Amino acid sequence: MDKFARIQQLADQRGLFFPSAEIHSPPSGFWDFGHLGATLRRKIADVWRKEVVRKIDSIEIDGCIILPKNNFEASGHLKSFVDPLIQCKKCHKIFRADKLLEKKTGEEIPEAMEISKFDKLIEKHKVNCPECKGKFAKVKKFNMMIGVSIGPLSGDYNAYLRPETCQNIFTAFQKIYKTARVTLPLPISQVGKSFRNEISPRQGLIRTREFSQLETEVFFNPKKINECPEFDSIKKTKLRLRLLGKKETISITAEEAVKKKIVSGKLVAYYIVITQKFFETCGFDPKDFRFRELDDDAKAFYSKETWDFEFKTSIGWLELVACNYRTNYDLSSHSKVSGADLSVVEDEEKFIPHVFEISMGLDRIFYSILENSFDERDGKPILSFPRNLTPMDIVILPLVRKDGVNDKAREIHKTLKTKYETKYDEKQSIGKRYVIYDQLGVPLAITVDYDSLEKDDVTLRDRDSMKQIRVEIKDLEKTIDDFFDGKKMF
Ligand SMILES: [Zn+2]
Repeated sequence: MDKFARIQQLADQRGLFFPSAEIHSPPSGFWDFGHLGATLRRKIADVWRKEVVRKIDSIEIDGCIILPKNNFEASGHLKSFVDPLIQCKKCHKIFRADKLLEKKTGEEIPEAMEISKFDKLIEKHKVNCPECKGKFAKVKKFNMMIGVSIGPLSGDYNAYLRPETCQNIFTAFQKIYKTARVTLPLPISQVGKSFRNEISPRQGLIRTREFSQLETEVFFNPKKINECPEFDSIKKTKLRLRLLGKKETISITAEEAVKKKIVSGKLVAYYIVITQKFFETCGFDPKDFRFRELDDDAKAFYSKETWDFEFKTSIGWLELVACNYRTNYDLSSHSKVSGADLSVVEDEEKFIPHVFEISMGLDRIFYSILENSFDERDGKPILSFPRNLTPMDIVILPLVRKDGVNDKAREIHKTLKTKYETKYDEKQSIGKRYVIYDQLGVPLAITVDYDSLEKDDVTLRDRDSMKQIRVEIKDLEKTIDDFFDGKKMF
């Protein structure tokens, strides 16, 4: 079984994540997260808040998921948010033309390519239905927006589930700018759900219909793209870039990238560095990631410059973040459709701010962290999360569930849970419990036994070395603090 399947299996066995509403045979592409999955996601978002939102003085908002139709006329989604769909004339099954072509040719096919080009390529490479070998009808555009009708009288869709969280940020920009006592550059962030009616959701959390994003939109004056006071502090940081048309990834300082005009300016370089540092804090090894420069065919139509942050997984390079220089496309088009003035006046100049976007996919980051933490011991899977992301810090295990041993264990749990993510578990044998919590990546186990009743001490077990030490209960909290501070004690 490959790594992807092993992780999927572990997740299902231990309830990290599983198909949503599974008992009702739901459509694919929807996932629920169990207790450890939910905690891990919260922790990722917390690290993001600390390493991105707070570090760049961003303002976090919390916007609605359902947005009015006009919003998407302005954003261009109703017209352009389409996938190339192809249907077999014989068995009537539906596929994505770009994915079929990629499989056949081994080359990357941009999903935004013109429809007529798809038909030509399908014919040229003699692509037939993978199910029945039947011939295909012509490629069609399929809009991926999920429509909703709001109010009792509306028949047609008058609103849609947002396909990206950034839309709220664009519509809220003027309000935030006017009320938050700020000047440009102004980063605004949001974490939340987005929805895309994918033709064929697949690969677990990799391509889903409901997903979560961690997004930041930086509004700035394009004339000041090289005015970035924080740049000096990061200019020596090496960026891992895969430039257009190149096979190799190069390591180049932010300063050089600006000087050689590889990026549009200091401001762009700064936010790319921030993105890279976030992933390093999440335990990603720089040799396993890169920022890939996208060409005109592959990048979104509104983007002047796009860097996809990709991570090397067992299923190939995975896009975790899109960094887009969106120019003033968003504010201009929202302004045009709504009639609202979205310009600002700074230094006696009136202009519509430009936007640099850092759009992260939480579900893919979640999967990548699982893969990064995954290992095997004696043929059994174990997860070893970076300390700042452990969904559960400590498990408290009474040797038996009687004679006061369990009561003592519960007492310890009660004290520790105010500070750490802890769990009390008295089910099954102690050996089985160790195996389960090793799999779940819990770094520390506390065992309470009969000796504990007499001597007022417990056994502390380190997941990684499997070594154990005996600690008096009065020193327990201090010892645990030291362990999580990184002190070596096993
Ligand atoms: Zn077919």
